[in-house]
Amino acid sequence: MTERIGQPELLKEINRSRVFDALRAAHLISRAKLAQQTGLSRATISTLADEFLQIGVAEDVGFGDSTGGRPPVMLKFNPNTALALGARMRDHEWGIVITNLNAQILHQINVPITDGTPETAVKALKQGVATLKSQVGRQKILPAIGLGTPGLVDMHAGVIKTAVDVSWFDVPFREMVEASLGMKAFVTNRSKVGALAELWHGANQGIKELIYVSIGTGVAAGIIHEGKLFMGANSSAGELGHVTILPDGPLCPCGNKGCLQQLVSGVAIANRAREKLRQSDDTILHALIGTHPERITADVVFQAAEQGDSLAKEIIDETAMYLGIALANVVNLFNPELIVLGGPVGQKGEILLEPLQAEVRRRAMAYPLSATRIITTVLGPNAGTVGAATLVLQRASDLLFERT
Ligand SMILES: [Zn+2]
Repeated sequence: MTERIGQPELLKEINRSRVFDALRAAHLISRAKLAQQTGLSRATISTLADEFLQIGVAEDVGFGDSTGGRPPVMLKFNPNTALALGARMRDHEWGIVITNLNAQILHQINVPITDGTPETAVKALKQGVATLKSQVGRQKILPAIGLGTPGLVDMHAGVIKTAVDVSWFDVPFREMVEASLGMKAFVTNRSKVGALAELWHGANQGIKELIYVSIGTGVAAGIIHEGKLFMGANSSAGELGHVTILPDGPLCPCGNKGCLQQLVSGVAIANRAREKLRQSDDTILHALIGTHPERITADVVFQAAEQGDSLAKEIIDETAMYLGIALANVVNLFNPELIVLGGPVGQKGEILLEPLQAEVRRRAMAYPLSATRIITTVLGPNAGTVGAATLVLQRASDLLFERT
């Protein structure tokens, strides 16, 4: 879809993207300041600013503070000039959003994926996107969609190599989505897009060393190093769910034994509760599930622990211990400034966070740990969808000016 472009044009695109990002971050800024921040000449800034004014993504407003001489005209970023689409797949469901250029969610929808095949997933995505588009009216939508999917994703080829949760192997997902939706698609693992969301739109913007750990049905990390997603040799870095915690622990679908995921995922918590329940009468879990052990979920265990149930608390503390072992290793290995916990289990808050932090303090080396904070996501369930839209927003300037 993108035509071949020569050197001068490529350079222009790169410069334009830099100025666009600086304008978006500042929201209101003078041309002189833009030149200063990007290191580009005043003439280049002026040409690019004219382009932004022409498509309405910037407007000239009033006068800024002057340090003497003529007060400067300020450029104001207009985040509603164009919108971005993002979708995250989890538990046989798409969460799809349309955001403005500042990643604020304007519309959102959840669409079930009935039989869990890639074909059905694409159909459900198409239907959800059509519904959202019909709510937008005349606003321009950038001609691309960002996707956060389960599994190991070859980002460059857009192929989902293996997603054990849904039994997908070597699925050319980008190609399928592009053919069906008639727009570009960017596909990445959902924990990686969660990390992008935390980096760009979380409570701690400006942090360059960040690790987002998503814990739900699966467990994975998105690693941000020097302000960028760390991908690894074939874009599969961050499979924290499959580091070994117990050498002879429960068998994992990946073929290994005692993987972190088999000890701290929502399913693992429920399984452990079911086992302990057989040996104990002294717990309110019995009252919460009646005679239906299949009704035990991680949510129910957390609910009982919040009410002071000691068996449920024991299960959460065990979960925190296993997770703490893994995160202490992460701290020693990566020396992150921030670890953000997300996903249905990860975002439970203090009841998990407190024993987890204690475990990490017990195990990690004091010096690397002295730079690290561990917190719960502030984006909540939207980390994945906003992160997926961010795959498009990162390329907003190119997409806005793309010749079709
Ligand atoms: Zn595994």
